[in-house]
Amino acid sequence: MKILFLTGSQYLYGGEALEKVEKDSAEIAAQLNENCPGADIEYYGTIKTVEEAVEAVKKINYDDDISGVIVWCHTFSPAKMWINALKILTKPLLHLHTQFNERLPYGDIDMDFMNLNQSAHGDREFGYILTRLNIPRVTAVGHYKDPEVQKKINDWADIAAALAFSKKLKIARFGDNMREVAVTEGDKVEANIRFGWTTDYYGIGDLAEEIDKVTAPETEALFGEYTDKYVLNTADIEAVKEQAKYEIALRRFLNRGGYRAFTTNFQDLHGLRQLPGLAVQRLMASGYGFGAEGDWKTAALGAVFKKAGEKRKGFSVFMEDYTYDLKRGEELVLGAHMLEVCPTAAAEKPKIEVHPLDIGGKAAPARLVFEGASGEATATSIIDTGTGFKLITANIELVCEPEPMPRLPVARLFWRVKPSFKEGVEAWLNAGGAHHTVVSTALTSGDIKAFAQMTGAEFVSIG
Ligand code: MN
Repeated sequence: MKILFLTGSQYLYGGEALEKVEKDSAEIAAQLNENCPGADIEYYGTIKTVEEAVEAVKKINYDDDISGVIVWCHTFSPAKMWINALKILTKPLLHLHTQFNERLPYGDIDMDFMNLNQSAHGDREFGYILTRLNIPRVTAVGHYKDPEVQKKINDWADIAAALAFSKKLKIARFGDNMREVAVTEGDKVEANIRFGWTTDYYGIGDLAEEIDKVTAPETEALFGEYTDKYVLNTADIEAVKEQAKYEIALRRFLNRGGYRAFTTNFQDLHGLRQLPGLAVQRLMASGYGFGAEGDWKTAALGAVFKKAGEKRKGFSVFMEDYTYDLKRGEELVLGAHMLEVCPTAAAEKPKIEVHPLDIGGKAAPARLVFEGASGEATATSIIDTGTGFKLITANIELVCEPEPMPRLPVARLFWRVKPSFKEGVEAWLNAGGAHHTVVSTALTSGDIKAFAQMTGAEFVSIG
């Protein structure tokens, strides 16, 4: 997707100055395009009138290939000129506060130079009107050749593209939310308004019907792929093939309806022999968001985060704070789920195993078991506050397993909470953070803040 670069100016300075504005702007946009590999930045032109500003925003709003807009004021650009355009802007905005020259030409500087290179006050006028109009934006400050400025623009472009994806995201819910649970509930109409999420319910029977249509050769072929990719650590081949059928059926069902996220609920599995485990893990690894126990909000957030991180290193995975090691001063969180942990987080070749689940009353399900990767990460929860949504991000450090856990039959991650276990978890509980999260080594709290800003969600960063 493309990002359009607009420069603010006016007719006050005369034709010669405007030619220079045009030339400098094209140069800056080209430089940024070259140094922001995740952002396809294209120079649009210099905006000098109300009409030009409105025309540009109309184009930006209705072009599905444009994910956002960068605005910079080379000169002063009186901001009443921007009001009509900004009032109708529906795409993410980055306000770039830079200037063409890095250093001042001390020996040559005169009033012509001052008039041409006045973003220091031109951008203040623009920032004022953005604030007055309550326009959400990310602001990047510094010379355009500064790698930090370029990285901020590049990161923002990833989030802008993820927002475009979010606005079209459809989530399929197989079954309702787990009975009695509060935090996985929420206002689906408000989520549609804020984030663009369409959340559709299906009876699990619709999926069972799709599973019945999967043929034996299809199942055998996918089972073959499993044995190539993973370590087969079970003698119960039929249980594994059952999950292969679920994967094929789920993929078909989701793709037919245009769904990029889905939920299941272990309380509602009528017509299925096992809880989908391996099948769900495989779908998550190919980019589908997932939420267990009917958690459509985390499913959607996971899909958006996977999209935002698709050009980056690292992963974004559905996770649950499960249990602790409370060794004083070295506290660790053991995160896992019943089955559904995305193998993009694996630090080793996953093993396929079959074990009883002990809840749900179904046959022993096949799942991928692995130890998780280590490194800097974020864990983000999305909650419904009753008046809107809140994103809560904890900064965490994923660590290696302190000791082997040979009897634990699920994939898992271990992490240290920042700034400390007591402070971090206390803040999380006070903020109302859920037990389901998206753990990401691809997205920083700054990225998630940008997404919250673009969607008008409340944001809390911890640690
Ligand atoms: Mn759960």
